[in-house]
Amino acid sequence: MAVFPGFTLPEELRALRTQVRRFIQDEIIPLEQRLDPDAPELPAEDWKRLAAKTKAAGLWALGAPEEYGGGGLDTFSMCVVLEEMAQHRMGLYNSGCGVFGRYPPPAIWAGSKAQIEKYAVPTLRDGWETFFAITEPAGGSDPAGAIQTRAEKHGDRWVLNGRKVFISRAHDAPWGVVFARTDKTKGRDGISCFIVERGTPGFSARNIRTIRTSAVPNDVVFEDCELPAENLVGAPGQGLDLAFDLLVKNRFPYSACNLGVAVAAHRMAIAHAKQRSTFGAPLAQRQAIQWMLADAEVEIRAARWLIWEGAWKADRGEDARVEASIAKLYSSEVLGRVIDAAVQIHGGYGVSKEFPLERWYREARVRRIGEGPSEVHRMVIARSLFR
Ligand SMILES: Cc1cc2nc3c(=O)[nH]c(=O)nc-3n(C[C@H](O)[C@H](O)[C@H](O)COP(=O)(O)OP(=O)(O)OC[C@H]3O[C@@H](n4cnc5c(N)ncnc54)[C@H](O)[C@@H]3O)c2cc1C
Repeated sequence: MAVFPGFTLPEELRALRTQVRRFIQDEIIPLEQRLDPDAPELPAEDWKRLAAKTKAAGLWALGAPEEYGGGGLDTFSMCVVLEEMAQHRMGLYNSGCGVFGRYPPPAIWAGSKAQIEKYAVPTLRDGWETFFAITEPAGGSDPAGAIQTRAEKHGDRWVLNGRKVFISRAHDAPWGVVFARTDKTKGRDGISCFIVERGTPGFSARNIRTIRTSAVPNDVVFEDCELPAENLVGAPGQGLDLAFDLLVKNRFPYSACNLGVAVAAHRMAIAHAKQRSTFGAPLAQRQAIQWMLADAEVEIRAARWLIWEGAWKADRGEDARVEASIAKLYSSEVLGRVIDAAVQIHGGYGVSKEFPLERWYREARVRRIGEGPSEVHRMVIARSLFR
């Protein structure tokens, strides 16, 4: 659907964006205002009701392949839509608190038809949570060096042993993908990807409480977890390629959520600066405030173009690994700065639970660590400069 050159979005995409904006204003924001500001997610009944409405409106799973019941949007169009979907209190929680659909870990698309039918299709259809487990106690920045979890082949089963940390939603998602070493002589090429169901004997998960309210991460232990041979995704040793190739494309939608929340915080700051007077004049007339807002405006626009350009390249099948790192690095850092300014402009209300700002402020901090910390993305960008 997307036509990037020409600097205008196709009419159809603009209409979709408007539809999402209205859905959020009419359905999600009024509901969130009635909930505890720290609610990790929507109550189950509300979620079901909203998910049904999303499906009826044709807004469910827009980014998933059409053949599996999704909307078939390309990465660029998803970025445009996700910027809107993220603009509410629970918006950083994978955008739209899941009422616009929940997506399986991207690695599953490299799986067999049977794996896609058994795991990805019901996930998309019914909105199951899933988990993606790569980080270990020895570190997440360098999984090739840090992964010690191992899977050994015993007849027609794989036996999984090890531990993963900070695995979002592993305590309640019915299944996820786990990266484990299958050949310790091969380094990076000795890591494979497995589908693991939460109820597998030997699987246990314990919540790790963080500053993030939603999508609680877990400390996960695998003790002699037996997996059927068909739970291997792709070929043995292909695990990290699957993890990174597919994650790269995912970084544009992830960045678009950062952007959406930055836009919402910025809009709130502008509105507050117009209506709040101190020392006999509105804050909006103070240069100190104007400059904060001007800087935020510039950074938001720059982030949007970086995301859009990278997503457009990825959709054309070009190598967009560096663009993905640029988009992720910049959007998550801009998000932090824009929210910080919005909190400051709101004064005491900025850190109160009356507004979504304090929640975004905490959740945004995680965005500079998850999906590759800022330093790792700087490494990727720097490497491309010296190649
Ligand atoms: C709330 C939350 C949810 C998460 N969800 C998931 C999940 O669902 N699945 C999953 O697999 N992981 C998840 N993670 C883990 C996350 O991906 C890791 O925290 C991240 O990859 C960093 O790994 P680490 O914490 O082990 O830090 P380390 O790898 O120990 O790094 C520590 C710090 O050093 C920096 N650093 C590392 N190497 C270098 C270098 N060469 N030069 C300069 N600086 C460097 C890093 O950027 C980081 O700031 C989650 C984390 C959090 C906080």
